Amino acid sequence: MAETISPAVPVPSHQRTEEAATGSLISYVLPVYNEQDGIRRFHRELIAAIDTRPDFDYEFIYVNDGSADDSLAVLRKLAEADPRVRVLDFARNFGHQIAITAGLDHAEGDAVIVMDTDLQDPPRVSIEMIDAWTRGAEIVSARRRTRRDTRFKRLTAHSYYRLLHNLAEVDIPVDTGDFRLLDRRAAEELRGFRERSRFIRGMVASMGFQQTEVLFDRDERAAGETKYPLRKMVRLAADGVTGFSTAPLKLITRIGFLSLALAALGILYAVAMRVFLPQVTVSGWTMIMVVMLFLGGVQMLSLGVIGSYVGRIYDEVRQRPLYIVRKVIRHDQG
Ligand code: UDP
Ligand code: MG
Repeated sequence: MAETISPAVPVPSHQRTEEAATGSLISYVLPVYNEQDGIRRFHRELIAAIDTRPDFDYEFIYVNDGSADDSLAVLRKLAEADPRVRVLDFARNFGHQIAITAGLDHAEGDAVIVMDTDLQDPPRVSIEMIDAWTRGAEIVSARRRTRRDTRFKRLTAHSYYRLLHNLAEVDIPVDTGDFRLLDRRAAEELRGFRERSRFIRGMVASMGFQQTEVLFDRDERAAGETKYPLRKMVRLAADGVTGFSTAPLKLITRIGFLSLALAALGILYAVAMRVFLPQVTVSGWTMIMVVMLFLGGVQMLSLGVIGSYVGRIYDEVRQRPLYIVRKVIRHDQG
């Protein structure tokens, strides 16, 4: 089972007291994609966790991200049974980051907690986040001390977080996903970020505010399998890099300069051969092939990287709505 410890939270000048926080509304934003087998247990454990802090009010915003299984029916039942549950039903699958965004847009709480619904983010840890918030933190991130995923996922995630940390122009904390508490002010600011290629942990990092962490051990998925196949993982990773770093563009420029310098040497060499050894210049085929292939490769690479930025610009300028909610299901409407 997960073990957690919270580091000391620095207390800022605008310190909130326990009393002031009492009676506050805490919103949970809960993305769901094909979680029919795990969602009931998740909700039970979440309720058990929040029952230890009865001094707050709660709302649970489940976002059904176009699930193909019976998740919606299960969520509907949860809403029928509990007036604090609201369900946003997406018209199709828009992806995890967009589902979180929709939930944030609808959350009305004084603090908003975003967490996965597969029990990999233990509900108990969200209570520690609330504690940190009452002590004055405005953003509380959950950092994974250990994780129980496949070796491949652990290795790629570990390297990626460190690469991103070095490349990105804002300080994106390592080993931190989207499990996090946002004070109302921070949540309002995050709502203003409307880009389509979304990497929410980067946006949060770029906002500033009084940020702190709680450490936790990430559990295995309670049911079902990961909804992040390699394809989605690569896309999210690319959004993280291109959204928060221009390092790839700078790399192209460097490769460009380098190949230019090499080309200049090649040209000098070719001209010198023509002038001083005209009888052997026909045998330049190898040289031409090497240069052609090299430049071709550099150009293709560059075009690819530039293309990925241009593609994102295209995505942004269309200004389409980020998501489409088919229906909002509340307690009284069934
Ligand atoms: N999810 C979603 N839309 C998607 C993929 C995932 O809403 O297109 C949800 C999923 O139900 C879960 C959370 O996002 O609550 C994290 O997904 P998952 O557990 O599959 O990712 P992993 O933990 O394997 O990185
Ligand atoms: Mg998961």
